[in-house]
Amino acid sequence: MFLSSRVKNANDSVTLQTNQKVIQLQDGGKHIYNMTAGQLPFKPMAEFTDKITKQINFLKSYQYAPVAGFPELRKKILSYTESTRDILFSDIDDEFDVVVSNGAKHTIYNVLGAIVDPGDEVIIMAPYWVSYPEMVNFWGGVIQVVNSHSYDGFTPDIEDIRKAISAKTRAIILNCPNNPTGVSYSEKWMKDFADLLVENPDIIVISDEIYHELCYFDPKVSFFYKYRPELLKQTVIVDGISKSFSCTGLRIGWCVAPKKLTAALTKIQGQTTSGANSLIQRALIDFDFSDLKHFMGPVKEHLRKNADYLREKFRQKGLSKCWYQSTSAFYFMIDYKRTPYFEAKYGDSTDDRADEISTLLLEDVGVALVSGSSFGAPNTARMSIVLEEGPFTEAIEKLTNFLSHK
Ligand code: PLP
Repeated sequence: MFLSSRVKNANDSVTLQTNQKVIQLQDGGKHIYNMTAGQLPFKPMAEFTDKITKQINFLKSYQYAPVAGFPELRKKILSYTESTRDILFSDIDDEFDVVVSNGAKHTIYNVLGAIVDPGDEVIIMAPYWVSYPEMVNFWGGVIQVVNSHSYDGFTPDIEDIRKAISAKTRAIILNCPNNPTGVSYSEKWMKDFADLLVENPDIIVISDEIYHELCYFDPKVSFFYKYRPELLKQTVIVDGISKSFSCTGLRIGWCVAPKKLTAALTKIQGQTTSGANSLIQRALIDFDFSDLKHFMGPVKEHLRKNADYLREKFRQKGLSKCWYQSTSAFYFMIDYKRTPYFEAKYGDSTDDRADEISTLLLEDVGVALVSGSSFGAPNTARMSIVLEEGPFTEAIEKLTNFLSHK
């Protein structure tokens, strides 16, 4: 069968591939500590699921929603964004709106579709979420990657971003809190980033803030546009319910953006998927977003404990060189290259051994991580820190024994 070059050039999701391997090994009777999860292992809060139950009784919950989302929900999302980011859109003008889509991934696809022509450049920062390059490629765009490393706390240098900008740069994708590093950028970094953008008013920032509720160590992230509110005119704030509501399967995400852009997104969505799930949108209209705080409290406490345990264990096992402080989201990036295991086996070789080491860890040690090669970070692997305390400490014991072994 003929397949388009778009499909032929796309890569399969590495997380899905790893998960398939995990299932295969588990089916064969092997016990695996699965640390690949991109979702919280908790049921969503009853305050929200009760609203879904209530809305299930109405005909409107089963009929088409307006393409951009129900107006009441869009209004609510605008004020939720203002209160959680400490900004006021009306300070700029009334020219902002919301488009609700089938998840934040869908939102970012639409945004790239609305602003990228073939050959246009999009800057992303490595390690990056695996879907960004795929999405940019899909629309014919070209990625420009800015690197960062474990020894600088996975924070990209603003000067490197400046150097990556060219006349063809259409957008920068910022992901803070970050998947896969669990890092949030400092206030100083955000201020410098804001200054850089003021110098480049034609560049659009796609600010993927899907993990913004998950800052488990202070200070909570403050975004660049808080320091230069006029930048909201060139910003798309992306958010949704997947991570903060623990509802990855319900597929609701959104963006807040200048109306010129939301009109374009509505056009794309109107000719592709139409409006997102009516039932869940209606439940969200009914839901008090301030209840999220109560739900997030214990989740953050759990992540904080696991992150503290990780730090202590890395210190005890002589792995401090590859430790950095993760503060948010629910991931940690292991820099294999700075472990005694790597140094003893490969010396200062720069070849990428991430797949090889991650496969050994999975098959011999029983710990599943996602190899960092497809995050644009050779010789690393992403570890999810959401496991419950018991299995988490067991898995970290096995992992650190392996990596500290010379
Ligand atoms: N952005 C980042 C950085 C993510 O890690 C994910 C999911 O893993 C998404 C967006 C997608 O979220 P959604 O489930 O709303 O499509």
